[in-house]
Amino acid sequence: MSDYQFPYQDAEFLIKDLLDFDQMCADAGLEEVNCELAFAILEEAARLGSEVLAPLNQTGDEAGSRLEEDGVHQAAGFAEAYRQYVDNGWASLAADEEFGGQAMPRLLATSVVEIWDSANVAFSLCPLLTTGAVEAILKHGTDELKNAYLPNMISGEWTGSMCLTESAAGSDLAAVSTRAVPEGDHYLITGQKIFITWGDHQMTDNIIHLVLARLPDAPAGIRGISLFLVPKFLLDENGQPGERNDAYCVGVEHKLGIHASPTCSLSFGDNGGAVGYLIGEPNKGLVAMFTMMNEARQGVGIQSLGLSERSYQQARAFAKERLQGTNSDGSRFPIIEFPDVRRMLMVMKSATEAMRGLIYIAAAETDREHAAQSPADASKHADRTGIYTPIVKGWISELSQEITYLGTQVHGGMGYVEETGSAQHYRDARIMTIYEGTTGIQGLDLVGRKILADNGEALQELLDEIHATADDMSEVDGLKGMANALLNAVQSGREARAWLLEHSAQDRNVAAAVSVNFMMMMGYLCGGWVMGRSALKAAEIIESGSANQSFLQTKQITAQFYFDHLLPRCASCFATVKTGSNSIMALDIEQF
Ligand SMILES: Cc1cc2nc3c(=O)[nH]c(=O)nc-3n(C[C@H](O)[C@H](O)[C@H](O)COP(=O)(O)OP(=O)(O)OC[C@H]3O[C@@H](n4cnc5c(N)ncnc54)[C@H](O)[C@@H]3O)c2cc1C
Repeated sequence: MSDYQFPYQDAEFLIKDLLDFDQMCADAGLEEVNCELAFAILEEAARLGSEVLAPLNQTGDEAGSRLEEDGVHQAAGFAEAYRQYVDNGWASLAADEEFGGQAMPRLLATSVVEIWDSANVAFSLCPLLTTGAVEAILKHGTDELKNAYLPNMISGEWTGSMCLTESAAGSDLAAVSTRAVPEGDHYLITGQKIFITWGDHQMTDNIIHLVLARLPDAPAGIRGISLFLVPKFLLDENGQPGERNDAYCVGVEHKLGIHASPTCSLSFGDNGGAVGYLIGEPNKGLVAMFTMMNEARQGVGIQSLGLSERSYQQARAFAKERLQGTNSDGSRFPIIEFPDVRRMLMVMKSATEAMRGLIYIAAAETDREHAAQSPADASKHADRTGIYTPIVKGWISELSQEITYLGTQVHGGMGYVEETGSAQHYRDARIMTIYEGTTGIQGLDLVGRKILADNGEALQELLDEIHATADDMSEVDGLKGMANALLNAVQSGREARAWLLEHSAQDRNVAAAVSVNFMMMMGYLCGGWVMGRSALKAAEIIESGSANQSFLQTKQITAQFYFDHLLPRCASCFATVKTGSNSIMALDIEQF
């Protein structure tokens, strides 16, 4: 058993009340899926999370993984936990039915993944990468590859890995130098990849690597990269793992956090070449890889939420138990009575609920895209997802640093020592702003690909929607103050958008220089929108005489705290955006 409990009430409120899951499923033609089924599934997932995965979090952190003669050995208990995860059908929950998936809505799957991430983020990284690899093969692979690999990957019998990074190619994938030479019906891959998460382990019979490499005649740069499927074991005539492929783990990193997730150096082709199969078109590998990366970027947002929730729960429990204050009669009281401890817990609670709301809204957008009745409708939802993805990855991962930092702070000295587990959440969260594209790369993605590329149209639609929520809130007694604050923040959002469009046309450094502050501003604004919508929905249900008054009132107070303490950060981000690149770029390199 562990200290982690899935926050049902908040998840139910979002899924059932705010996002109207029953209606969403009916619109998508999923007649048998509804809230009742969803909550039964969540209950089962929470059991596996709390009883099996969460207890392995600290032991996995202490043991880590190790490289031996026959490859990487994961921490004790992980293989058995993974077996349970597969046998209970969790791996296939949201996957395509054609290859054995259960085709559950993305919104539900997202909520389930939050459980794995809170319980044991090092473990949940493995399924995250498999899901991304499945998506890439599904969208870009040939029928032959799909039939040969997807059923076992979707069931979880085989896992996937994502092999992009090389020592000279991190954020800049144009520098990828791994080679792929055609030979018959396949290619021979040679090169070294570093930092490959779950790149090797003993939990499954096969591992399917998705590898970026260059063909011999490929043009230089980003337009000369292709994507290949490289199995650890080649398939025999029965489609089962047979001969060992020439792809080996040659090192495992020692690192700050997520110790139980092996971060591998993989060497391809030391003995003549690893057999690989092309996914998608030659030289268009990055398009295919982006399918996987977008999936993983949202996944990192969910990991950041999961860690924040776990850190909050632990800090809350500690604050209720730790006695420090002394009453006049000499009796002692717990630290949760101190205003500053309240402040820290409220930041943690309100930010985590805002994160969850935005992540669930983004997941529902993907469901709406899949259920769209016309290409135009689908493209509208895809554009919105495009805006959400860098905010979910960038803003939420940055905010999770603050939440897990506060989790440690609430514990005082006990937070700094490893015993309580709080320090582990802080260490585990640190990678969130780095992998799957650093915060800097998310800022550039939002500003460049998602805003400047369509002249700010998709962002304009989002801002209009936030404005409409503020208008609705201003009609409700008790929410008028929050409505005004949201109107002001959305007005700043409009001005920031206009400023960006105008100034980036004049100075090429401007968009890049302001991009992270711009993204953080949009994150805090979206968080305000989510909490405002939540307060509005809570007011509506309270009005209708719901039995769960306590949860709904708590939600309203939490929203008020977000508006008082976190939404104002929009204004400071905006003030910084408006200073452009001048002082950022003013020093000569020698002056640093
Ligand atoms: C634990 C762990 C697991 C990982 N798992 C995987 C995996 O499974 N598969 C995989 O392929 N990779 C993986 N990675 C690699 C990870 O994705 C990269 O580390 C990350 O993309 C950053 O690349 P880099 O380390 O080379 O840093 P660099 O690209 O060298 O960046 C250094 C700094 O420069 C900034 N920077 C770089 N370029 C720009 C730019 N154009 N504009 C603004 N700022 C810029 C960055 O924001 C950063 O602050 C993992 C890394 C770690 C540590």
